[in-house]
Amino acid sequence: MNPSLLGPLGRATSAYNDRIAVISGDITTLAVDAIVNAANTSLLGGGGVDGAIHRAAGPDLLAECRTLNGCATGSSKITDAYRLPCRKVIHTVGPVYSDLYPQRCETSLRGCYQSALQLAVQHGLKTIAFSAISTGVYGYPSYDAATVACSTVKAFLGSDEGEKLDKIIFVTFVEKDVRMYNLLLPRFFPPS
Ligand code: ADP
Repeated sequence: MNPSLLGPLGRATSAYNDRIAVISGDITTLAVDAIVNAANTSLLGGGGVDGAIHRAAGPDLLAECRTLNGCATGSSKITDAYRLPCRKVIHTVGPVYSDLYPQRCETSLRGCYQSALQLAVQHGLKTIAFSAISTGVYGYPSYDAATVACSTVKAFLGSDEGEKLDKIIFVTFVEKDVRMYNLLLPRFFPPS
């Protein structure tokens, strides 16, 4: 059973166990330790969630991103959050999906979640909200992307490093992702 409740973020969330939640809405409004941005390799801003994050954070975010020399696909970098209510932004670069190379795409997407979680631990951040990396313009099929997200987060939370994290929030923005996470989360994270 997935009890709907009004979570600490003041919105309807579903809590699957005490360390995992899914929320439907705009990631830029969340007052968590870190939000994870679906950036591109330049880190110089783009459309989708990246555009929304840069608009809400203000121009200082772009100025800091310019100092980072981009980011490889499957990797992550961290910045301050400026005008956003969260403390830090972790920018990760998902793969542009290609059904010619599904395995390579999966490895990269897994790298996004892993590297973002590792950065969070390194910076002492405990509550992390993920956007649905690569599922927008980059075209990663929602079911497959949500499966990679859930399995990678589950493995990380079960590791020694993962014990340092309090909560992971999957942020869904469009109906197809809401459906996928509601389908998959109870399988990966049975209620505690
Ligand atoms: P990508 O290029 O990695 O596919 P997109 O930004 O196009 O990145 O999409 C990634 C996901 O972010 C998509 O599921 C999209 O619906 C979602 N999204 C877009 N805007 C927001 C937002 N403001 N808050 C949370 N998620 C968002």
